[in-house]
Amino acid sequence: MQTTAPSSSPFISFAPPSIGFGDVDAVVAVLQSGWLTTGPRVREFEAAFAEYVGARHAMAVSSCTAALHLSLLAAGIGPGDEVVTTPLTFCATVNAIIHAGATPVLADVDRHTMNLSPDAAAAAITPRTAALLPVHFAGRPVDVHAFRALASRHHLLVIEDAAHAVGASVDAVRVGVTADSSCFSFHATKNLTTGEGGMVTTDRSEWADRIRVSALHGMSRDGWTRYAREGTPHYDVVSAGYKYNMTDLQAALGLSQLTRFEALQARREVIWQRYDEGLASLPLLRPAAPEAGTVHARHLYTVLVDPALCGWRRDDLAQALRERGIGTSIHFRALHLHPYYATYGCAPGMFPHAEHISACTLSLPLSSDMPLDAVDRVVDALHALLG
Ligand SMILES: *Cc1c(COP(=O)(O)O)cnc(C)c1O
Repeated sequence: MQTTAPSSSPFISFAPPSIGFGDVDAVVAVLQSGWLTTGPRVREFEAAFAEYVGARHAMAVSSCTAALHLSLLAAGIGPGDEVVTTPLTFCATVNAIIHAGATPVLADVDRHTMNLSPDAAAAAITPRTAALLPVHFAGRPVDVHAFRALASRHHLLVIEDAAHAVGASVDAVRVGVTADSSCFSFHATKNLTTGEGGMVTTDRSEWADRIRVSALHGMSRDGWTRYAREGTPHYDVVSAGYKYNMTDLQAALGLSQLTRFEALQARREVIWQRYDEGLASLPLLRPAAPEAGTVHARHLYTVLVDPALCGWRRDDLAQALRERGIGTSIHFRALHLHPYYATYGCAPGMFPHAEHISACTLSLPLSSDMPLDAVDRVVDALHALLG
């Protein structure tokens, strides 16, 4: 990698995690506690997260991918069922559908919101459709009312990929109670991190029970319940479950992050506004304003680099930024353009909006700890290159 950034201007990473002293202390306390794996900190994190989003149940797991897989299984979705989702997402969304034994069916996004279009989703429904799986892309809530209405009209379930959407809301209702089940990611680049980790929230008690058991080998009791002073060493295996549990090390970090989450989000908002103002005069398409009544989680600041408008190809602009010490990322190469999904009938040309975004999108550096002078460096570099 070539970098011409002078030593006085360090490389601006795309999305480093925000780790404070309190986060470090919380993890160290678990290390010193004598209990590292699933235990009291996980239970506390689940309760705090459920309260935060306003859901009846929250189940901490090892990733959002696991959360999606377990939600689909809890919903009884499997072979013969189709699940409608977006091509503009991370491969985990579609892979989880495949892991459940079901068939992913893609439908195009709205060009403006970049979220799964309710109309395109409606057109993709067949007699085999069992669920809709919208993704709150970049932190922008999907049209949850439209998906609810569509689901009830066709007797479908809605499972949402909320990997980008901790902190998002619609009409003062937090994402997390906006579907039959919501799946969050605490991967290192997400707004709230546990290093790796995920959470399912749901108001359905039956799903919550199934997910708890399936997340830990299909055992009727977790380790903490068995080893605690008042515990019993006995348990029943009631299904061939998975090893998808979260550890207390991760949960301690999550709890600590959750206590200062509003401040982390407020910082993202400030950085977002700085980009919006700084880039306003450039021939880049900036993210659309959030829909009325919604709160955008400000996960990814994506611009469209359209060669017809700005004279740059996206990958060349990303390389020029890298040479100026600025890291970027791409969210996402549309899934129907990856070779594997041809197995599911996907081919280039099928989803023109997702394909256009896929070709032009560039995610600029954004993290809660990013200093404003770093934002200004990105803005200045883009002005120098495009101005
Ligand atoms: C990050 C991400 C996931 C996967 O999250 P993990 O916690 O890494 O499994 C799923 N969907 C989307 C849209 C993501 O960005």
